[in-house]
Amino acid sequence: MNLYRVAILSIGNEVLSGDTLNTNAAWIAARCTASGAQVVEQRTVPDSVDAIVTTLRELRARCELVITTGGLGPTHDDCTVAALLELFGDHLVLDEPTLKRLEAYAAERGRQMTDRLRSQAMIPSTARVLPNPIGSAPGLFIEGRDDAAAIMVLPGVPREMELIMEQSGIPLLTRALVQRGSDILAERVLLTGGIPESVLADRIEPFRQQLPPEVELAFLPSALTVRLRLRAMGPASTVQSLLDDAVALLTPAIGPALLSDRDERLVEVLQREFCQRGKTLTVAESCTGGMLGAEITSVPGSSAYFLGGLICYADSVKIHFGGVQAETLARHGAVSQQTVEELASYIRAVYGSDYAVAISGIAGPGGGSSDKPVGTVWIAVADQHQCHAQRYSFGSDRHQNRVRACAAAMLMLIERLRAIDG
Ligand code: ATP
Ligand code: MG
Repeated sequence: MNLYRVAILSIGNEVLSGDTLNTNAAWIAARCTASGAQVVEQRTVPDSVDAIVTTLRELRARCELVITTGGLGPTHDDCTVAALLELFGDHLVLDEPTLKRLEAYAAERGRQMTDRLRSQAMIPSTARVLPNPIGSAPGLFIEGRDDAAAIMVLPGVPREMELIMEQSGIPLLTRALVQRGSDILAERVLLTGGIPESVLADRIEPFRQQLPPEVELAFLPSALTVRLRLRAMGPASTVQSLLDDAVALLTPAIGPALLSDRDERLVEVLQREFCQRGKTLTVAESCTGGMLGAEITSVPGSSAYFLGGLICYADSVKIHFGGVQAETLARHGAVSQQTVEELASYIRAVYGSDYAVAISGIAGPGGGSSDKPVGTVWIAVADQHQCHAQRYSFGSDRHQNRVRACAAAMLMLIERLRAIDG
């Protein structure tokens, strides 16, 4: 197989000692893998010129690209650039665009231009700059040769590393993959909802058997949803159509349980469905205590459809602000069809949204009874036509019960939207 092999070299005493969790290596590995490269090795070395030079020599002999992270700053312990100079017998040159950017960087922050800051514009003559739009140390790139890998040098600060990688690193990597005609790993993710993993597996099995051997199918379950991940390895020219065919084969088998073929989260599907129809949403949350609102607003652009909601944990709040009759609570309890229906209808009317959803349940570990055990959750969705409630029986874990209640509420909303608003 014609692979494009990548090694990741993390540099820093604090990573080695465990003071800093090496999230950079995981992030870079995931991003490279998703782009079609094969991550073949990860190493961590101290802030030491010798250690960096020795390891770069080793790694460059057995892959196409080495990506380093850390040790790029202007302090005494940062020695990645010194290691590059030694490795290549190179010298520093001034990079004018970087100097200009550093001057602007200092001015924006009301800081003096110091020699230390200026030193960040000095780069090895063989390197090219990968601009850092938010920090001082630029990334660097050194072309590979037939017998030695290219080197991509990134800062240690995760936000800076990620931005440079997205803006400059990944485009370079993608171009290299295409130029070499390397086999790439491509994937598609289908999000399904409201159907248990085992039922889905049975439904799909006859179609799965028709998939070509190059396509690998994985079931990735989480709260009330299952992500179906299709992966294929092959030449960039054919691998996408292989996956397109696989998706076309599975789509009819999944039926209405298919929520998205774009590798989205459930809440992103919810947002898209609401925004496409120009509808608005409010929530009334008891046992989830704002978790659904937090999930909804974690997605940029949620203000286009989400108006807000009520956290009505106590009975008194359900009565005084949620429109629930005291008699309803006395007769049916807070976790009941009647309570969530009254909440959803009231919130929808008072907050003035097209849809409202209300959640009330027993998250646990205490509070259960024989007819309403821990994990019992009632959810109601109100729209202009009706208010529909459903009872769920989740498990004994408090966190899981709350997460599942949120997922169930989103699934009910999507189903209702699709049913009445086309
Ligand atoms: P700076 O310009 O800030 O000095 P740098 O490129 O020199 O950046 P380091 O000094 O090695 O990077 O690390 C800066 C900070 O970035 C560390 O204190 C740490 O919080 C974080 N960091 C470094 N390496 C990693 C890593 N592998 N994973 C996650 N975070 C890291
Ligand atoms: Mg540093």
